[in-house]
Amino acid sequence: MPELPEVETVRRGLEPVMAGQTIVAAQVNRPDLRWPFPPNMAARLTGARVLGLRRRSKYLLADLSSGETLLIHLGMSGRMLVSGAMLGQFHHAHPAPAKHDHVVLDMESGARVTFNDARRFGAMDLMATDGAESHPLLASLGPEPLGNAFDESVLAAALKNRNTPIKSALLDQHVVAGLGNIYVCEVLFRARLNPAAKAGSLTPEQTASLVPIIRQVLSEAIEAGGSSLRDYRQTDGELGYFQHRFHVYDREGQPCATPGCPGHIERMVQSGRSSFYCPVCQR
Ligand SMILES: [Zn+2]
Repeated sequence: MPELPEVETVRRGLEPVMAGQTIVAAQVNRPDLRWPFPPNMAARLTGARVLGLRRRSKYLLADLSSGETLLIHLGMSGRMLVSGAMLGQFHHAHPAPAKHDHVVLDMESGARVTFNDARRFGAMDLMATDGAESHPLLASLGPEPLGNAFDESVLAAALKNRNTPIKSALLDQHVVAGLGNIYVCEVLFRARLNPAAKAGSLTPEQTASLVPIIRQVLSEAIEAGGSSLRDYRQTDGELGYFQHRFHVYDREGQPCATPGCPGHIERMVQSGRSSFYCPVCQR
């Protein structure tokens, strides 16, 4: 499931293909994904120029010359494929239409952007650019973890008196936007905090330490994604998925990466999701 760094990598891959370009043809192959597409989506996209491509949490926002913004959510299995454009050293020819190609956008440059989503948990919507932040999917999101509105005092206020585990608190999109299971596990490992620790019981120092660690973990992952774009080894033109080494995520039973630590990574289930942690480092 794509998390913030993967979505940001997709954004960086799509931006040179889409920004400044007019959508000369839009093909919408079904009425819905997770939710129905907006009415007349293909017609509303056709002829619009993409002014810029932003990201808010795990949502991509393409601002259009029509005054509307296209919201794209990759969901669980959504993939963005680019063809007919130079990407790094590789030129990807248009592939034959594939199963689950739900939306296809042809840009004036000849590049084609295809949204493929086998499980259809993804979403697309159109709304007025003015007030886009009040869209139901965006309105209640907390601060961007890499933005200026997220700092130690904001996080401390959000965690104060909370009786929930710190793992759950950091997954709460009201607290901070865009953090998912994988990167919260990595953040807590680096902060040496047990995922089950009560959020409100952290010391001020522990809470404060989380802010730079969250930024660092996400920035490193985005950097790894950027490398994947530069190398462009994915010959099918798919954006956003890259090899990234995790310290704890999905490493149950493996030795802890902390030098000198005798611990092995354990897994526990919290709110139906796996938490991976070192029981020695993260007491
Ligand atoms: Zn350890």
